[in-house]
Amino acid sequence: MTSLTIIGGGWAGLSAAAHAVQAGWRVRLLEAAPHTGGRARRVMHQGLALDNGQHILIGAYHDTLALMRRVGVNPDTCLLRLPLNLKTPDGSGVRLPDLPAPFNVIAGIAGASGWGWSDKWAFIRRAIRWQQQQFVCPPDLTVADLCAGLPPAVMALLIEPLCVSALNMTATQASGQVFLRVLQDALLDGDGSSDMLIPRVDQSSLLPDAAVQWLKQHGAEVVTGHRVENLLPHLTSPVLLACPSWEAARLTQSLYPAWSAKAAGLQHTSIATVYLHANADLRWPAPVMALHSNAQAPAQFAFDKGRLSQDPSLQGVLALVVSACEADRDSISTAVLQQAREQLALPQASLLFTVLEKRAAFACTPALVRPSMRIDSRLLACGDYVAGPYPSTLEGAVKSGIQAVTLLQAMP
Ligand SMILES: Cc1cc2nc3c(=O)[nH]c(=O)nc-3n(C[C@H](O)[C@H](O)[C@H](O)COP(=O)(O)OP(=O)(O)OC[C@H]3O[C@@H](n4cnc5c(N)ncnc54)[C@H](O)[C@@H]3O)c2cc1C
Repeated sequence: MTSLTIIGGGWAGLSAAAHAVQAGWRVRLLEAAPHTGGRARRVMHQGLALDNGQHILIGAYHDTLALMRRVGVNPDTCLLRLPLNLKTPDGSGVRLPDLPAPFNVIAGIAGASGWGWSDKWAFIRRAIRWQQQQFVCPPDLTVADLCAGLPPAVMALLIEPLCVSALNMTATQASGQVFLRVLQDALLDGDGSSDMLIPRVDQSSLLPDAAVQWLKQHGAEVVTGHRVENLLPHLTSPVLLACPSWEAARLTQSLYPAWSAKAAGLQHTSIATVYLHANADLRWPAPVMALHSNAQAPAQFAFDKGRLSQDPSLQGVLALVVSACEADRDSISTAVLQQAREQLALPQASLLFTVLEKRAAFACTPALVRPSMRIDSRLLACGDYVAGPYPSTLEGAVKSGIQAVTLLQAMP
């Protein structure tokens, strides 16, 4: 049995560890923090089990769902499955009905409110063209370039919200090619691929806690609170770097300067999750709502945690998400509180807690060259930022963990 050291216990490291254990490796996973889960983990605040950031998964996250099942988490009970819903509280926007693909998309666009018939027809023609081009475009296009000529209503009520929630950047900044790949997977990867899967439990209960237990039961060693400072002593056997890009860059700086420079060169974008207390009965049509967002009202989505969770302490708790946010924590909290009071008609809402994750996602810009998975014959990297077709997502992280172990096995 060959030993494998995995540095980092986020979703990529846990995925790699589970895959490696099943492939017969003796796994040692080293995690710097006192807990696993990385950017997608539980955060306790005044006895409430909240998250480091409110997440949404989608039906196309096949590898993530399979990993959850493998470690004993039932996605059917831990996630609420809803058809894609980008409708705002005033009823404008797109909601896909519960129909097989692509009829759900056609019916959803036909029924979009706030769009005229010419808007709907313009989007359908463009979507057919993207499909004919097999969802591939020149790598240097932004999402705005790709969508040039689409009517403002389509941009405001569909493209912008999808782009900012999937790529954590605005359409003028984000990669058109990666956006097309996300659209392809979400819309055409089989029935249910576009469904939103909203966690009913905290992010650590969704995978990391069960994964650690499963790994230990299967003979792996999981060490938390162990920050790897120097790579060299670990290189006596194969090593998988599953830490974020900036840490991978630090660890490889002297040994592999070219790879390290590429990892260090990645830019990052922030996400804030503002937790509020509603101080009122919420009577929303669904436990998640899209919001009209702008600089003064920056949140794009609101989640009714009380309705999603079975935990009585979360009754009346809301999570409002500000993707691609640029302001500081206090300004975001104040603006989001005001937005909830006005847009969600919650004049009594009060602030609980704000988590601002400054390096939530790598900046998925056009023609970005991401660091390769292979660094050397005994050193690989996995994580959401490693070369691949996806933006920073749980599925990207989980997939890269699987691919890294597969690549390691194929090496002489
Ligand atoms: C607020 C927020 C909201 C998000 N929303 C969504 C969403 O809705 N849907 C979605 O799909 N994705 C979302 N994401 C992105 C998703 O969380 C990430 O893509 C994913 O968690 C990345 O996992 P990872 O394992 O690649 O990296 P990380 O989660 O960063 O894990 C790396 C791990 O390495 C550890 N580490 C670092 N240095 C060392 C060292 N020297 N030694 C040992 N260990 C080390 C860290 O402590 C960490 O646990 C969101 C992210 C954030 C922050």
